[in-house]
Amino acid sequence: MNEMPDSLCRLSAAQMKHLCCGCGLCVAVCPTGCLRLLENTRGHLEAACPDAAVCAACGRCAAVCPGLRREPSYHLDLPSAIVFGHSTDGAFRWNAASGGLTTELLTYLLHSHAVDYVVTSGRYEDGRKPQPVVTRDAAQLRTLCGSNYCPVPMGLAIENVARLEGRCALVCLPCAARGVRRLMEHDRSLAGKIAFIITLLCNHAPSFRATAHLARRHLRLRDLSQIESIRYRGQGWFGQAVLSARDGRVARVPYSEYFAGPFASHFRRPRCQMCLDHFGVFADISMGDADFVKYRQARDNPGETVCFVQNAALLAALEDMKAAGRITLSREIRHDELTRIYGPLLAGGHEMVAARRAVGAIVPLSEPGTPAVVQARWDVALRRNLEFHEAMSGGSPSFHLYQALRTVHRLANRARE
Ligand SMILES: Cc1cc2nc3c(=O)[nH]c(=O)nc-3n(C[C@H](O)[C@H](O)[C@H](O)COP(=O)(O)OP(=O)(O)OC[C@H]3O[C@@H](n4cnc5c(N)ncnc54)[C@H](O)[C@@H]3O)c2cc1C
Ligand code: SF4
Ligand code: SF4
Ligand code: SF4
Repeated sequence: MNEMPDSLCRLSAAQMKHLCCGCGLCVAVCPTGCLRLLENTRGHLEAACPDAAVCAACGRCAAVCPGLRREPSYHLDLPSAIVFGHSTDGAFRWNAASGGLTTELLTYLLHSHAVDYVVTSGRYEDGRKPQPVVTRDAAQLRTLCGSNYCPVPMGLAIENVARLEGRCALVCLPCAARGVRRLMEHDRSLAGKIAFIITLLCNHAPSFRATAHLARRHLRLRDLSQIESIRYRGQGWFGQAVLSARDGRVARVPYSEYFAGPFASHFRRPRCQMCLDHFGVFADISMGDADFVKYRQARDNPGETVCFVQNAALLAALEDMKAAGRITLSREIRHDELTRIYGPLLAGGHEMVAARRAVGAIVPLSEPGTPAVVQARWDVALRRNLEFHEAMSGGSPSFHLYQALRTVHRLANRARE
């Protein structure tokens, strides 16, 4: 096997396909501009190096790439609190992805001058795919609420953050957060500019082919530039995707038809199947759906957001927002509910990794890095996630399956020795 590469240009197409989560960070940090973020044939954004001769082998891309298994020394705190709640603005809550707490928190951070601006995702609009948006405008933030179930290259915004004065709050998926933390380790001036990383819990990120499929099936559109706008969430909870065509037609697709089952497994990116962290253990706070049983049965639940808080300042901010009447906030979450909702997300990735490792003990994996380095680094990441899991749920059936796989893997290793 190869050593850990110092340039992503050295990776084969197969390696890139399996490690890349399309965050765009490598493109943002490359000094020679030889990396590009392109849409591959499966509709995922993927880094490519069209002209490897231009690469200066400076190592910046490999140092920040969240796909390569290098852990920053960033200290992982277990979540200091798990809380849930919603915006008290009923109309806004109805349009938000879950309970609108993410947008309310961003608004509070702007108004209280804890940050000077916010970096979040733009929407699918005017035939254009979502790009990162930099804003100081709380009214604009409210128009951006919702979850974009398609690739969004949030890492590209790092170029703006480096250029702008002041501190920001950055919204992104957990994989991008991992890369941003690595970047902050390498670039202290940038670290001073990112006050908070806010992640959205993430099962998987669907491709643009998933979007194309929805447009073809529900709007009879073949040309994606004819899409006026897409809102993937909102309209209550779990809500619906609302697709609007330029000719005025509108299609409403229930959540269950575009983010679950065979649809999800067909359109998710390969990296998501190996995801080590669906939560955002490198974030200051992580936001997800409060998929409580009582809400599943309720017909008119507009949505709640669960927050896994790792930064005490953000917990204080949420308490302040509650005191001001902007949000509701509760800590009354039963552990069995947490295990039911999030257990599979926590354990699923580990099982996949452990299973792949067990297979890898017999069939060598074609991933970069020597086996010893890979093993050691991956173990660190796994241990951190496991501590997080144990603290939260105390074990679930899938967690026990994972442990069984670990035992098999250990035995296989011993047998080899
Ligand atoms: C691809 C994806 C998969 C998800 N999977 C799960 C899951 O399996 N389980 C779960 O509990 N929760 C999941 N979530 C999170 C959930 O859908 C909500 O985003 C979260 O609960 C916050 O809701 P809210 O109402 O507080 O956010 P809102 O107040 O609606 O604000 C959301 C903010 O996030 C920004 N945003 C939306 N999409 C993206 C994106 N792709 N990248 C960066 N910023 C973005 C918006 O611009 C907005 O600023 C996922 C989200 C995404 C985008
Ligand atoms: S995961 Fe991000 S940093 Fe790594 S290759 Fe892909 S786009 Fe670049
Ligand atoms: S090693 Fe440096 S120059 Fe080469 S692709 Fe990576 S960041 Fe760009
Ligand atoms: S599942 Fe993991 S790798 Fe895939 S988009 Fe979500 S955080 Fe990134």
